[in-house]
Amino acid sequence: MNVYVTERFTAAHAAELYGLDGWGNGYLAVREDGHLVVTPQREPSEGASVLEVIQELASRNVRTPVLLRFPQLLEAQVERLCRAFGNAIREYEYGEPYAPVFPIKVNQQRSVVEQLLRSGWAHGLGLEVGSRPELMAAASLPTPPNALIVCNGFKDAEYLGSASLAVRLGKRVVVVVEKPFELGAIVNLAATGREMPLIGFRLRLQARGAGMWEKSGGVASKFGLTTLQLLRALEMLEAAGLKDRVKLLHFHIGSQITDIRKIKTAVREATQIYAKLRHLGWEVGYLDVGGGLGIDYDGSRTSSDASVNYSMQEYANDVVFGIKEVCEQQEVPPPAILSESGRALVAYHSMLVTDVRGTIAGIEPHPPEVDGSEHEVVLNLAEADRTITVKNYREFYHDAIEYRDQMYSLFNLGLLGLPERAKGECLFWSIASKAVRFSKSAKFVAEEFLELESKLHDKYICNFSVFQSLPDHWALDQLFPVTPIHRLNESPNRKAQLVDITCDSDGEVQKFVDQREIKEAIELHSLIEGEPYYLAFLLIGAYQDTMGDMHNLFGRVHEAEVLVDAGRPVIRSVRTGEVAAETMTAFGYREKELIASIDAGLRDKVERGELAERDARRLLADYRERLRRYTYLG
Ligand code: PLP
Repeated sequence: MNVYVTERFTAAHAAELYGLDGWGNGYLAVREDGHLVVTPQREPSEGASVLEVIQELASRNVRTPVLLRFPQLLEAQVERLCRAFGNAIREYEYGEPYAPVFPIKVNQQRSVVEQLLRSGWAHGLGLEVGSRPELMAAASLPTPPNALIVCNGFKDAEYLGSASLAVRLGKRVVVVVEKPFELGAIVNLAATGREMPLIGFRLRLQARGAGMWEKSGGVASKFGLTTLQLLRALEMLEAAGLKDRVKLLHFHIGSQITDIRKIKTAVREATQIYAKLRHLGWEVGYLDVGGGLGIDYDGSRTSSDASVNYSMQEYANDVVFGIKEVCEQQEVPPPAILSESGRALVAYHSMLVTDVRGTIAGIEPHPPEVDGSEHEVVLNLAEADRTITVKNYREFYHDAIEYRDQMYSLFNLGLLGLPERAKGECLFWSIASKAVRFSKSAKFVAEEFLELESKLHDKYICNFSVFQSLPDHWALDQLFPVTPIHRLNESPNRKAQLVDITCDSDGEVQKFVDQREIKEAIELHSLIEGEPYYLAFLLIGAYQDTMGDMHNLFGRVHEAEVLVDAGRPVIRSVRTGEVAAETMTAFGYREKELIASIDAGLRDKVERGELAERDARRLLADYRERLRRYTYLG
């Protein structure tokens, strides 16, 4: 199917077709030579080619699939977020500071968290943890003086003991009470006389989020204290002499909040609660507005699930203004503001580059000729294929379905050979594709042709696992932008869906971002014999790194950290992906035992005279060596 027939397809056409200007946030562009470039300075002429990175990695024997991280994009996002809040604080003359608190569950990779801490040092960037292991990780990292470690998640004595230890280690830790049962453990910790962290409360607001994660907020959420629970908790802590430790209120109404009005409502409700506590004499100093600051994955700037109807600056303005207004009205001092923005800080910084290994054509490009000697049913299909027009396409397509069904019945009765069946199948799909083309001339395209069209797309087989690298696409249908990383100055001439190399029918991508609608297929180029064709899945830096699984024992992919230096990519570090032995070990196949078992089998054969000693050694070495190879297609 020809997609773009233009005088000359240029880089600008590609940027528009794939929507880079909408979702790229200025960090991605297409160069005149058709390469996708990464532009941390938001200056296309200073961008570094992703293809050049892949070629350089290949020369070091690090092949796709590979996850590329661009630390400068982390830095740029930290700067943008802090600048947005800085602007809002200045504009509304807000008297207290703002600090970001990075929730490490969004991307726990040490290199990512360390980069964020470096970039956010001057802004007092803190960390949010949701479990004891995350707290242990956070406690080990250098954090700016006075930056907070906010402990969310369900807490037992062990978790609280670790929080106390972190305080001893010099960290400023707040444990946020999520559930009443945590209070007993907090009071017990205080009774031991050990170092006490600060205490906060997670509020269960009436306000809900909007979008795919809206269940995290609202009265039915599994998180946070109800009003009554909050009042009882305050009584209990006061009775235990812990009133002066209570310093923070927190809410989180869900990730990727698509509609700014939901944020405004939640901010006002939480600030009212803050003000009431201040009236009651509780000297809470921080209001933590949680995560939720979303990313425009499809570039539409709407409240669709893959987008947001606000900018980062608007978000900061609404948070600061909302808090200020309520505090003024209630005549209480304003709190310092924290946000647990995760997605917004890390989503842009990484991309997965995969190579396309082949295609499954929707339509056979070179069908065999019909010579008149075939069975009548095949000849009927040939006639329909020859005479179908815009006037009769519907009727002829329905006839073709009947002929096709007759053909299969004849085949099952043994009355038709394989070559005839092959010709009949090709003819049927040729008729179907013509019918789809003709159907587009109608004012309303009938549902059956819309469905048929989706069956006619090519499938591009990509060397990666959706389950390992795009888990939210598999689990939640979340959309991520996809583009080729080269040939972007060439008109794409195919429409395709993507399939991965797992043997699971869920391992596919059939929905693609678009500013106006969700596309069922993406425009790609025909493969050129002997030349690699690379695609990138973009904006995958949030959540995807940590949620992936090892379906089919495909493991963690190779990773490279890449800096952009005056238009050139500089590979800062490479971390090789898992080899078969590693993914197998996770499921109880220990390398040593595997080798011993293969060896025992070979010994047996040698003893029985079925195998020469030398061959046995060679086979064992071969097996051992293959265990150490990358899990993806080589
Ligand atoms: N804080 C809490 C308590 C969360 O549960 C989450 C994620 O859902 C976040 C912060 C991060 O949210 P986001 O990635 O939308 O900024």
